[in-house]
Amino acid sequence: MLSLHCPYCGVDVDETDLTPGGEAHLVRSGSGSDDADFEAYLFMRKNPRGVHFERWRHSFGCGKWFHAARATDTLEVFGTYSAQTKEPPQDVQERIRARRPDWKGFGKGDRI
Ligand SMILES: [Zn+2]
Repeated sequence: MLSLHCPYCGVDVDETDLTPGGEAHLVRSGSGSDDADFEAYLFMRKNPRGVHFERWRHSFGCGKWFHAARATDTLEVFGTYSAQTKEPPQDVQERIRARRPDWKGFGKGDRI
């Protein structure tokens, strides 16, 4: 079972107390964007085997949204952090690089 650390409550939470929110760090397509950008924003999601950044809600706890960096193939969790960030914190990225030397970095080589 997946277990994540809620960065707000400071407790480890089992998957049954969480609600998945899909991919993290999506950039909203603003007014003036073309149809292809808006379609990509609405429908196109990554589904990697490996490092992935996701949104989770501590539904049966504080109710807040947070982000998690984890490996989809091993369920290894690299860290959780506030959802109010545009990219993963440096300490989380360094932890990923230490465990996954082949990882290209956030936003590099993992776009659709
Ligand atoms: Zn919480």
